[in-house]
Parts: sequence; structure tokens; C-alpha cells
Amino acid sequence: MNIREQLKDRKRIVVKIGSSSITHEETGALNLTKLEVLVRELCDLKNMGKDVILVSSGAIAVGRQAVGFHHRPKNLAEKQACAAIGQAQLMMIYQKLFSEYGHRAAQILMTKHTMTNNLNRKNAFNTFEELLAMGAIPIVNENDTVATYEIEFGDNDTLSAIVAALMHADLLILLSDIDGLYTDDPRKNPDARFIDTVECLDEQLMQMGKGSSSDVGTGGMATKLSAARIATAAGADMIIANGADFHVLHKIMQGKPYGTLFQKQQGKEFHLIDILEEEHI
Ligand code: GLU
Repeated sequence: MNIREQLKDRKRIVVKIGSSSITHEETGALNLTKLEVLVRELCDLKNMGKDVILVSSGAIAVGRQAVGFHHRPKNLAEKQACAAIGQAQLMMIYQKLFSEYGHRAAQILMTKHTMTNNLNRKNAFNTFEELLAMGAIPIVNENDTVATYEIEFGDNDTLSAIVAALMHADLLILLSDIDGLYTDDPRKNPDARFIDTVECLDEQLMQMGKGSSSDVGTGGMATKLSAARIATAAGADMIIANGADFHVLHKIMQGKPYGTLFQKQQGKEFHLIDILEEEHI
């Protein structure tokens, strides 16, 4: 069985979606049709007996839309207020959609302190475990409303990799507005080649992530590659795939060749605390 075909046996899966994947490009408003597909796909993973954790961005994007901003919030207070409004709206919609398929969504908001403080980290772990044991789907975001620069992760790519590491997930799927990793920026270089599988993330590959970005979320390819470094070191395979169509989730689980697969590092001893230090978290 090749590595892609083995993905169907993964038991604990973290899925991360960016703001640009759940909003309409033209208006910034939530794309409800896409959200429905996302929730249905996640519920089906639950129905297959998997543990599912969703890391969802979108608090600020939804809040900004709700208060009628046409610009990104300028200062911290504006950003935090938008997040407070948007996070509540987003969860209300997730609750509704998950309950339609008979599943329960749970909200977990985190800051860096949740990870760096030993007691907080242990408590977060216990809460996640309990929620998964109850069959719930934890929906995670940064606690943007209280997170200032000294305690923020800054992007949900990193956050999702840390959640995958904390919870010993065996697969992390990052869905974004890009197909995966290319040898160069495909929008600028027509000769850029797509990379299907990465066995070992070396410096040369890390350099390939520089320079790509998106207007809606905060992560570019560089943050996705740091996420890959964390997740694969923690023993999880990671896939970066295009979230333009969330049906890609079951196709990935069927072993179809979507996105770039970063293979977990075998036989390496893993300490979350060391990783947090190495990544300056
Ligand atoms: N936490 C932010 C939000 O929910 C997004 C961060 C990110 O997209 O990386 O709006």
C-alpha cells in the first residue's frame, strides 16, 4: 500500500481552513454553500469513527463583514472587536450545521499561554480528550479578542500544527487557496513544478515558501511550511491542499493524489516544549 492509500487508516485528524476558503472573494461574506459541504465532510469523517478537530479561521473576516468594514481592521482594538463579533457568529453557524447531521460542535479558543504554561497545556489536553471521548468536534481558533502580540500565535497554520502535536493527531490537513507546494510561485513562474510528496523538509524546500500570501487570512506558504515542520516532527503526516472545493477531504482520505503530502518523521523522539522553543513560540 502506498503512503496515500494508508491515509484512510488515520484515526485522529486535524483539519485547518483559512478565512479565504469560507468567504466569498467579491464580498467577504461567508460562503454558506461551502460551509455546508465542509461540515458534511467532517461529519462523515466522524461517522467513519475518526476523531476530528477543526481549526477554523474567519472570526475577523466575519466580524469585519458584520460591522460593514471594507478594509482590514486597522488597530488592535478594532481587530479584537471584529473577532469578538465574528467568532460568535461563526460558531452559531457551525453549531447549526453540525447539529443538522446529529453532531456536536465545541469551541476552544487558545493563546500562546495555553501552550507555554504547563498547567494550561495539560488542562487544554484534558479538555480536548474529554470532548473527543464525548464524540464532539472541537472547533479551535486563536483567542483573537484577548491575544495581543506577545501572546498570539499570529496565524492558524502554526496553531493547527501545535494542536495536532498536542493531541497526537496522525494527520493534519491544511486547506487553503493554493494547490500545494510548487518549486516556485506558480502565479509568477510558469515553469514552477508541483511537488506531490515531501519526505524530508530541508532548508531548500523551506526557501520555496517565501513570497506567497493571501489577502484574507494571515498565513502564506512560509507559515504552512513551518506548520509542516512542527506536525511532521510530532509524528503526523500533513497535507496542504486547495480548499476551493471541500469535497477534496474525502478524496484525500480515499488516497487520491490531491495536495502536497509531507511525510511524518519516523523514529524521532518528540517533545512539544522543545518544538515550541525552536519555533520561538
Ligand atoms: N484567527 C484569525 C481569525 O479567525 C485568523 C488567523 C489566520 O487566518 O491565520 O480571523
